[in-house]
Amino acid sequence: MRGKGVKSERKRLGRKEKMTEEERRLNAAEETEKRLAEWIPKTTAGKMVKNGEIESLDQFFERNLNVMEPEIVDMLLPDLEEKLVDFHKTAKVRRSGRQFSFRATVLVGDKNSYIGVGTGKDRERFPATRKAARNAKLNLVKVRKGCGSWQCGCQETHSIPFKVSGKSSSVRVVLLPAPKGTELVVGNNIKDVMILSGIKDVWSKSSGNTGSKLDFVAATIDALRNTTKKRLSEDIVKQATRK
Ligand SMILES: [Zn+2]
Repeated sequence: MRGKGVKSERKRLGRKEKMTEEERRLNAAEETEKRLAEWIPKTTAGKMVKNGEIESLDQFFERNLNVMEPEIVDMLLPDLEEKLVDFHKTAKVRRSGRQFSFRATVLVGDKNSYIGVGTGKDRERFPATRKAARNAKLNLVKVRKGCGSWQCGCQETHSIPFKVSGKSSSVRVVLLPAPKGTELVVGNNIKDVMILSGIKDVWSKSSGNTGSKLDFVAATIDALRNTTKKRLSEDIVKQATRK
């Protein structure tokens, strides 16, 4: 627990200024902590996480469990970052007139080895974003990083271990390992996916022009999913990724 918290501190001092970025962050952390303390898991997997039987997301997935409650992710990956990558206002024409709603697309990632995307729809802005973040947490994908570039061969985890591709509707994305210092040579619409999965150097090619931003993001995550799907012999894994 973080003592009395920012809010009570403010009350005590009688300040009325706007919250600083730091205070906002602390407040959010406090709220998460409180929410997790009050969390009553509904699933067996959730109970195992809450009582400490499962201590990491890797352990969780090794047991072939499914994330059915976003709190599981909040608990096991407290450093997960969220980013709103797309936001749309949509209108439906009803007999009573036009009805607006919002569709949010949120990316979540720990800048290390997990990435996920989700969408949420609501008549209000904020709930649409919350729903999207929740769905993103239920759709986490594990990313295996490495250095698959023959021009580099440093054995660190700054890139991906080998070429992968993925698709979503008409969009196809190919990711290629790149040597150190290349940075992210990818389209702007998928840069956030790389940043939130902690990949520093990569090349990409994409095709399909009718796709939405969500399709590009989803195709990229599908490609990253393939970094763990391919079965490699132990020595290649050792060569491509530092353990
Ligand atoms: Zn390298």
